[in-house]
Amino acid sequence: MPTTAQTFESHSPADGRVIATYPIMDADAVREAVDRGRIAASWWVSLGFDERKARLLRFKALVAKRSKELAELVHAENGKPMDDALLEIILSVEHINWAALNARSVLKRRGVRPGLLTINQAAHVRYQALGVVGVIGPWNYPVFTPIGSIAYALAAGNAIVFKPSEFTPAVGEWLIGAINEVIPEQPVAQLVTGLGATGAALCEAGVDKISFTGSTPTGKKVMAACAKTLTPVLLECGGKDAVLVDKDADLEKAADAATFGAFSNAGQTCVGVERVYVHQAVYDEFLALVAAKARNLTPGHGPDSSYGPMTMPSQIEVIREHVRDALERGGRAVVGGPESVGEGVVEPIVLTGVPEDSMAIMEETFGPTLVVNPVRDMDEAVDRANAADFGLAASVFSGSKATMERAAAQLHVGMVSMNSWVMYAGVSALPWGGVGQSGFGRIHGPDGLLEFARSKSTVRERFALPVPLVSFARHPRTTEIVRRLTSRRGRVVLQAGRTAVGKPPPLQPGVGLTHGRWTNAHP
Ligand code: NAD
Repeated sequence: MPTTAQTFESHSPADGRVIATYPIMDADAVREAVDRGRIAASWWVSLGFDERKARLLRFKALVAKRSKELAELVHAENGKPMDDALLEIILSVEHINWAALNARSVLKRRGVRPGLLTINQAAHVRYQALGVVGVIGPWNYPVFTPIGSIAYALAAGNAIVFKPSEFTPAVGEWLIGAINEVIPEQPVAQLVTGLGATGAALCEAGVDKISFTGSTPTGKKVMAACAKTLTPVLLECGGKDAVLVDKDADLEKAADAATFGAFSNAGQTCVGVERVYVHQAVYDEFLALVAAKARNLTPGHGPDSSYGPMTMPSQIEVIREHVRDALERGGRAVVGGPESVGEGVVEPIVLTGVPEDSMAIMEETFGPTLVVNPVRDMDEAVDRANAADFGLAASVFSGSKATMERAAAQLHVGMVSMNSWVMYAGVSALPWGGVGQSGFGRIHGPDGLLEFARSKSTVRERFALPVPLVSFARHPRTTEIVRRLTSRRGRVVLQAGRTAVGKPPPLQPGVGLTHGRWTNAHP
């Protein structure tokens, strides 16, 4: 990615041709965007849920209508086949739709039960937009990934400033252009372009939250930068996802899912399958199935390629290193090997017998490689899957629902697919995010809307208590009355009375609340 002092170019990973040239925006330019965003945010939030919904649905319709044009851009900058690009866009359209349609129901003001001691209060929680959200994106899913933040942040009433990856800036520009087309009045969505330093500047530009998706090392830098100003962060980082295959699983289906999960998008998927733990009873059969499927793949630049070239050239060295380390430590290459790691396209590599402490097991490879190791049973499979520091997602294949549910409960990850790979991504109502080194915070679903709002609690007195609780005028006996009220018996009596008449009853003669008024209190 050649740069001059002020510009950089994005290139096609297929043939190296320049796709576009963009400015490297400095800290001043980024701050100006955030300042403009703040004005836009107050206009945007004032529109209310219905107006925002209408505009976001227009954005959705526009992306759907022009999906082929956008897919061509994704194909050009990222290198993935057109069909994969289209699938990514279709999923993104679903998310824009869900965020637009559900923002009101998730974020509307709601009442909460005030509890026994504060029975005279009307208690509510309301969710208010944060203001300006900085979104920093990667290149591997340059539409699906940022849309998970952008659509949800906008639906919650925020303006956004988006810094796309330097490898896919044209896709980022397209998305922001489309939003501006349907919302021309104010810059509720802005693009800032540049390299890592521009992202770093966004962290320090006074935004109200950073939603970062990228590698774990960069996520740590983002968090450190945001710590200076206590800017909240949402971190969607790397993964080392495992597939667990039980002895009674549908092996054909599991092998198909593992192969697609490992090799599609050249393995450059945060929730890509990098490890399989398969029951020893079916290990040989499963490995043979995976190997046959992997050998059939035809990576390359053509329209019918199974997957494209590596988007980021520097990743090739990481893949080479992981394969070398695995083989040196006793692993065996079943498909491909070190020679499969070319300069642009990496041919499929399937390894087995790889030691659990090797790089190919513990670190994110982010390439078209797959390790298949045998295990005694599903408990061992769960233990091995959990041994990595990453915890983004996992898949479990078994003939037993109980086995899968048990494994799902025990896996230290944010998302689990049972008898499929990645299907949680298509359920817009499900939150997306990881644990451990995979980050924290959630996009998608109700949790994804709540990430871009702050809760505000309110209480409003409905009637006055004759015995004040928080006042210097409090009678010395009041504390004893409250103690009795909150004792187990007091709670039972008071609760029973509330259920029976809908109002608090007297606790005992002379003590407690009657029809919302305190009686003369004598312990
Ligand atoms: P990256 O960390 O290299 O870059 C991500 C973004 O951060 C880019 O826009 C980059 O310019 C910016 N950046 C770089 N340095 C920065 C800094 N100091 N401060 C602020 N921003 C900075 O990641 P990548 O190579 O673009 O993406 C691949 C990684 O993303 C993989 O690890 C993958 O697993 C992860 N990923 C995670 C998810 C998820 O949902 N968890 C989704 C997609 C990708």
